Amino acid sequence: MPQIIDGKAVSAAIKEELKIKVEELKKQGISICLAVIQVGNDPASSVYVGNKKKACAYIGIDSLAYELPEETTQEELLRLVGELNEKEEVSGILVQLPLPAHIDEDAVIRAIDPKKDVDGFHPQSVGALCIGQHGFVSCTPAGIIQLLKRSGIEIAGKECVVVGRSNIVGKPMALLLLRENGTVTVAHSKTKDLKEVTRRADILVVAVGKPKMITREYVKDGAVVIDVGIHRNENNKLCGDVDFDSVAPVCSAITPVPGGVGPMTIAMLMHNCVEAGILR
Ligand code: NDP
Repeated sequence: MPQIIDGKAVSAAIKEELKIKVEELKKQGISICLAVIQVGNDPASSVYVGNKKKACAYIGIDSLAYELPEETTQEELLRLVGELNEKEEVSGILVQLPLPAHIDEDAVIRAIDPKKDVDGFHPQSVGALCIGQHGFVSCTPAGIIQLLKRSGIEIAGKECVVVGRSNIVGKPMALLLLRENGTVTVAHSKTKDLKEVTRRADILVVAVGKPKMITREYVKDGAVVIDVGIHRNENNKLCGDVDFDSVAPVCSAITPVPGGVGPMTIAMLMHNCVEAGILR
């Protein structure tokens, strides 16, 4: 059987480390505060925002919640972001996505002060990652690097294939694996012969958003498989982009869904908040 990479345990360990760090910072007079803005009341977003607030409370990070109505205008939202940028006590700003269709998400992300961009979505943060400078890194791919390292999986020199090239997962994932000295290939919907590409991978990261698309024919024997996808199947059970039952017997390590990559995203958000508090 492969090693089952336990995202819940790694995420809990990171949160414990952060809790201790936040206590130490408090003793030095440094407090950390995350401002979370939600526009409208999309039920999934409300769950994510609730989980983020809970994680803040657990670690000792203050949180400010701004729950704005669906009809909030772009100007009103930009004004609030501008005010939070100026507020000394606010160390991080998170605007829960997706935003209602009448608001330009890119404009809102660009308005966040990069020093408070704890989601790592600002073009300056992405550019810094690209050229190897300091900046906040998108939480899900940053969490995957932590999962690999803390599970004793070497990245340097490995053939790494990332399936998916979104701005929040695939692209930053590829840059992070490159930073860790992996040899990186990015596959996407226009890739010819995807199976041939994925079968080269020692480390295969899948972020395609298609339930159970990756079956054993896509995976080299002994590969490490990281499943970013999260879906509900017809029985309301969670599943990933990887067909776990088919792939697990051939790989050396695999993340389950749930309990793999998912819990890491919030842990890394908390990590970024603490960094933002120290930087301020
Ligand atoms: P996007 O839909 O933004 O991107 C999907 C990517 O997969 C695109 O680059 C697309 O290629 C590529 N793709 C789609 N179909 C194929 C195919 N048949 N063959 C090869 N490539 C394909 O998704 P995200 O990156 O935002 O998310 C991916 C998954 O991860 C989703 O299930 C999402 O719910 C989950 N997720 C989980 C998180 C967590 O915390 N666990 C956080 C974020 C996302 P192209 O660019 O050519 O269209």
